[in-house]
Amino acid sequence: MICVCCGSKDFKVHLSDLLSCSSCGHITANLDLSLLNSKDIYSINYFQEGEYLDYFRDRSCFEKNFQKRLNSLLKYQATGNLLEIGSASGFFLNMASRHFNTVGYEICEDMAAYARMNFRLDVKSIDFLNSDILENTYDAVVMWDVIEHLARPDDFLKKTYSVLKQKGVLALTTGDISSFMAKVQGRQWRLIHPPTHVHYFTRSSMITFLKQHGFEVLSIQYPGYFRSVRQMLQGSVINQNQKIWNFVDKSRWAGTPIYLNLFDIMQVIARRV
Ligand SMILES: [Zn+2]
Repeated sequence: MICVCCGSKDFKVHLSDLLSCSSCGHITANLDLSLLNSKDIYSINYFQEGEYLDYFRDRSCFEKNFQKRLNSLLKYQATGNLLEIGSASGFFLNMASRHFNTVGYEICEDMAAYARMNFRLDVKSIDFLNSDILENTYDAVVMWDVIEHLARPDDFLKKTYSVLKQKGVLALTTGDISSFMAKVQGRQWRLIHPPTHVHYFTRSSMITFLKQHGFEVLSIQYPGYFRSVRQMLQGSVINQNQKIWNFVDKSRWAGTPIYLNLFDIMQVIARRV
């Protein structure tokens, strides 16, 4: 195994089922990542009753978060061609379409179909790595909460570099396993859950990762997020009692957005050098 950030082959065991790169500190799930089958993992069930309880009913929360991310991106790149990797139901791409010519890649066919039908977006349900996109085409590429899911984020970054124009902007979000919250919670940190999350970046390994692949880091911030009451109770005792959960889930306030900042999710903006 080779570290996707720095190329080192030296790892040590970290928190029982993870591996930490001895050179740059990047952390990876201790799995045979070549066996991950993304098409199987990311079916519609992943977005409903899976990692997300109900992606569509929480639309207003996602849109509040996406508007903040879009505003951050617009400070660096305000127009042109934008590509989103992992565009899900198209909530972000729909908003971005007011400023950019947009294209999305979404491996879940049902989600891609939803985006095409409801927002008339150009969303392709094929793997970005297998696509024959023209090089030097995009002014911006975004990956919201995607990179931690990829078996080979280094291959995605190489391809992102090639499809971006020179000085094109990459914007992404992912957890920071070197954050205070992750350190205090250890293996219980809510973002550690292989096999859907397999790469755990530290602030430092993210910088190494981007520099190694020809990007200049412009900004790393830790913004807070809106989550619905429904999302916040996921995995709690309330969520495990079916009767109580049905009552909560059907209540009017289940979708109420609540703002919270645990300072453990990085929002990174980088530029292709
Ligand atoms: Zn490394």
